[in-house]
Order: sequence, then C-alpha cells, then structure tokens
Amino acid sequence: MRQNTLTRWTAENSAELYGIRNWGSGYFDVSPGGEVIVRPNGPRSDIEVSLMHLIDECHARELNMPVLLRFSNILASRIEEINESFRRAIRDAGYQGEYRGVFPIKVNQQCEIVQDIVELGRTYHYGLEAGSKAELIAALSFMKDPDAFVICNGYKDEEFIDMALQALKMGLRTVLVIEMPSELDRVIERAELMKIRPLLGIRAKLSSRAGGHWDSSGGDRGKFGLDASQIIELVDGLRRHNMLDCLQMLHYHLGSQVSDIRKVRTALQEACRFYVELVREGAAMGIMNLGGGLAVDYDGSHTNFACSTNYTTSEYASDVVEVLMNTLNEAGVKHPTIVSESGRAVAAHHTVLLFNVLHVRRFEPLDVPGKLSANSSEMLENMMEVCNSLSPRNVQEAYHDAVYYRDELRGLFLHGGISMRERAMAETLFWRIIGRLATMTKGRKYIPDELEGLDAAIADVYYGNFSVFQSLPDFWAIDQLFPIMPIHRLNQRPTRNAVLADITCDSDGKIDRFIDLHDVKHALPLHEWDGSDYYLGAFLVGAYQETIGDMHNLLGNTNVLHVRIDAKGHIDVVRQIAGDRVDEILKYMEYDPEAMTEGMKTRLDKSARAGLITARDKTQFLRAYREGMKGYTYFEK
Ligand SMILES: *Cc1c(COP(=O)(O)O)cnc(C)c1O
Repeated sequence: MRQNTLTRWTAENSAELYGIRNWGSGYFDVSPGGEVIVRPNGPRSDIEVSLMHLIDECHARELNMPVLLRFSNILASRIEEINESFRRAIRDAGYQGEYRGVFPIKVNQQCEIVQDIVELGRTYHYGLEAGSKAELIAALSFMKDPDAFVICNGYKDEEFIDMALQALKMGLRTVLVIEMPSELDRVIERAELMKIRPLLGIRAKLSSRAGGHWDSSGGDRGKFGLDASQIIELVDGLRRHNMLDCLQMLHYHLGSQVSDIRKVRTALQEACRFYVELVREGAAMGIMNLGGGLAVDYDGSHTNFACSTNYTTSEYASDVVEVLMNTLNEAGVKHPTIVSESGRAVAAHHTVLLFNVLHVRRFEPLDVPGKLSANSSEMLENMMEVCNSLSPRNVQEAYHDAVYYRDELRGLFLHGGISMRERAMAETLFWRIIGRLATMTKGRKYIPDELEGLDAAIADVYYGNFSVFQSLPDFWAIDQLFPIMPIHRLNQRPTRNAVLADITCDSDGKIDRFIDLHDVKHALPLHEWDGSDYYLGAFLVGAYQETIGDMHNLLGNTNVLHVRIDAKGHIDVVRQIAGDRVDEILKYMEYDPEAMTEGMKTRLDKSARAGLITARDKTQFLRAYREGMKGYTYFEK
C-alpha cells in the first residue's frame, strides 16, 4: 500500500482507472498534461481539444455550470461510421442492394441536432424517422432529399396520414408503416381521396427478443406490430384494393441497446422469413428496415452486459448483410435496400454533461476513546470489544456483531435506555468498524455478498451542480450507467472514493453506481477537494437524456454550448443556448412571475409601513427576488 502511494501517478494511470480508452471510442482520451481531450473527428484524426479549454470558453460566454457540450464533428463521424460500415460490408459481400439510414427524432429532438444530422448525412442520403405527428412536422421542415427516406411509425390519425401522403406527393420518400390492423383502412381511404398511391411498410411483431432493459418493445408482448395472422389479413386487404404494389417495406424494432449480436442475427433471420413470404404473396417489397437497437458500449467492457455491447458497428453491418444474403439467396429473392433506424449509436457520443463540485462531505468517523466511561451500557461495551478485536480473520463475524449491537443500541435509545451521548458513541463505533472492515476487504478476490458495497457505505459524498432527473434520467429510471470522471487533475492520484449527490432534494438524486469492466462499481475515485474549481464530465449522454429529463425541484434545462472544431483545431460555436431561467420554469408550471413580483412588492410595502423592515431591506429583497426570477435554476456563484 505504502509503496503504491509512492510511485508517481500519471495521466496514463488515470486513463486506465477511468477506462476512457475502452468507452471513448477514440473520441475521448487523456492528455499527458492530465486533462480529458476530445478528438472530435475520431481516432484517426490528430485534432484534439481539451475539455478544460471548452470550460474557459463557457466562462468567457458567461455560461455557468452545468453545461451540456455538443460536438457536431462527433455526430458527423458517427453517421460516417455507420454508413461506411454498411458500404464496406455491402461491397465485400457483393450484396446487390444499398444502405439508407434514418435518424429517429425521438432520440434527440433538439432542432439544431436534427438539422445537423440532415446536413451532415447529406452525402449518404440520410433520412429521418418520425414516431408522431409533431415529429413528422419537424422532419419535413428539414428533409429535401428525394433519395432519403422519411419513415412514419407510431399511432397515426388522419392528419398524420394526410401529412405523410402530402410529403410523398411532394417527392419525398415517405413511408407509412402500418403498426396496427386498424390503420390500413384509414390509409387506403385517405390515399384514394388524395389520389395518390401510398408507400407502405408493415411492422412485424417478431418472436425474437432483445434481452436487456427494453426487452418488451420487441417480442410477442410488444405494443406495436402485426403478428403473422394480422399480416395475412393486411395482405389480403391490399390485394382486394389492388394495392400490393404499394407494400414495399418490412419493418421491425427489437428495442433499444441490443447488447448481443446473436439477438440481432436471430431477429433478422426471422424478419427475412416474413420478407420472403411477403414477396411470395405478391407484395412489391424492396426495403428491409431493421429498426434501432445498435448498441453503445457505455462501460467499455465489450460484453453483452446491458450497458455494453459485444459487437462493433462494422460487425453489425457485416452480420446484417451476411444474414440477409444467406436467407434471401436461398429463397431466390432479390436483395432489398437496407434501412436502419439507429438513434443511440448516432447521438450518444456527441454530448458531454459538464458540472462542478459544490461541496464535499467526507467519510470521517470521529475518534474513538481508548475506554468508555464507567457506567456505560453493556451493549456499548460489547460494541467497543468488537472494534478492539477486529482482525482480517474475523471480518464477517465482526460485521454481524457490529450490526447487531448497533440495532440493539438504537432499540435501547428508542425506549429511553441510553442517552443521546451513548447513542452517538454507538454510531461512531459502528462507522469506525465499518471503515476498518472496508479497508481490510479492499482488493480481496472473494468478498462475502453482504460485505459487497461497503466501499459505497464509507464513500465521501461529492455534491455536484446538476440534477440526475434533468440530465441523466435513465440512470434513475432504468439503471443505465454512464461513464463519469474528472476532466482535469488527471496526473494527480485520486485519493478519495465518492458517490455523487445532485442538488435536488430527492434521495434518489444521487449516483452510486459507476461503470466497471467486470461489474458495477459503488464508488468513484476522485481527487481531494480543496474548495477550488473541480469539474466532472458525464459522457455519452447524447441519446434520450435530454428528451426524457424532467424538472424535478424546478431545475430546468441546462446551458448548452454546441461547437464544431475546425481543421486547425479552433472552436467554432455553432450555437449557445441559455438554460431555463427561473421565471421560464415557473411559467411552464402555470405560475405568473409578474403577478408574483407585484404581490411580493405589495407585501414588502406593508411590512415596511408596519415597521418590520426598513426601506433599504425592502429594496434589497425586491432586487434579489427579481434577479432570482431571471437567474439560472442551478447553483450560481
Ligand atoms: C426508439 C426507436 C428507434 C431507435 O432505437 P435506438 O436503439 O436508439 O437505435 C428506432 N426505431 C423505432 C421504431 C423506435 O421506436
């Protein structure tokens, strides 16, 4: 241990400790100077920018923490990676169709992101997927490319259908995907009325399952999609209307973050069988839509663990092409255009949440006296004995005893049997024991289950200027892990172990599970905090988090700095968006900030007249109230 602390700690040690090269996909790394750098064009480019440099940029622009950083370059690089992977796979296998990706808007609906994706994906004829009327309206405002797809999923009312048909008339490849049997009649009716042949797809309900958090979106219990008999009904319906030529796409969606490549293959195999049968029924077909599911390796372990994935984008593409070739060649069916609706894999990497540490509560049990005072309770004496006789050979027994005596002593306190001082001594002794147990078991290969997570129990609490509910909702809702680490001081040894608490008042507003190559870590190694600026980053947060985030404790949207790094490594700010102000959040909740300020003024006048406050107090308070209304909802200096 001692020797270990004497060896020099370098940025390399930090890179390994935080696993940044495992999950960073070449976009993030540590500089020899000990700062996290972004390589916005990916691993093959030598353009690098330090995140601390971007923090300076935020300060210069008066953007307070927390700030969401967005990198257009990374978005472009992800789109390129997916498209080039498919291009190579198609070329290498001699596949006869092409690939056309679409971005599902629900993954990140922010205007400048959707706009960026359409622009950056232009060379690949990259399209958009809309799952609602509002998303279709958003999609249509950007889509101009007649060779890119606009895919309409989700519940569709008459207006939604009309808008899609109108877009098709205007020359956009707008596909209406039938998700429920009842939709077909409506589509046929509207299309006849508008005198247009619709471009149709059907969403198949496969029996293959994805596994993981999102399992129920695929499989028999999925809320969308048609089973075999409903598909037959639909085909017969189309045949009766002489519309089999309109049915061109088979669509399925297994769910998000499909970690295991075997699940990807099995589902596609099943989908291919549906595809072949539809061709045999006489449908035009020509397009196979794999939906989303392309996974992101959040923990960098390259496994089929829920927060990881055991395949790369390029393996995904070549496996998809291989399965399609094998099954369709066997059936003698022409190779379709491959469409995928990858959202997470496109958007996750390009966004980083930066926040500062506001306060630290260290785990430091008070000193224990050598001897208890004469007439102490017997239980307390027993607890003392446990503390004194602790050894590496009796850790489990000592743990049981400590918990037992603590509970007994709490019981005694409850019934007036011991004083508050004795209770305080009991707690001190207990934490002293737990602290020593944690040190003794640290690094052991085998730790009894009940002693797992002791490191979290004795971790410091680092209070971060952010809200889990607003910025990392999936951590709270579905146990999704994100890589989190300091973005500077990385050539200093992190000597503390910590859990992170946010600034909401909710006991769930904390992060106490962290990525690990083998399991989940319960505490994050961090640097000693001396009150000066200390910045952490939560990475790979560009997919779903902004969309799902909520306003717990009226903490609103964060500040955003959207940048593009040019060929010389200079920072171009594409857009700077101020986070929600207090009055904006209040209005959203139907408050009336002006009336509130007026009301406050009246009350202050009254208090001043009654002599409770001075005229100066009144002015000061009113100014603070007004400024508060216009302020950022997060902690400001
Ligand atoms: C959510 C969704 C997607 C995106 O899935 P990712 O796993 O993020 O790629 C694609 N298609 C449909 C129909 C969806 O509902």
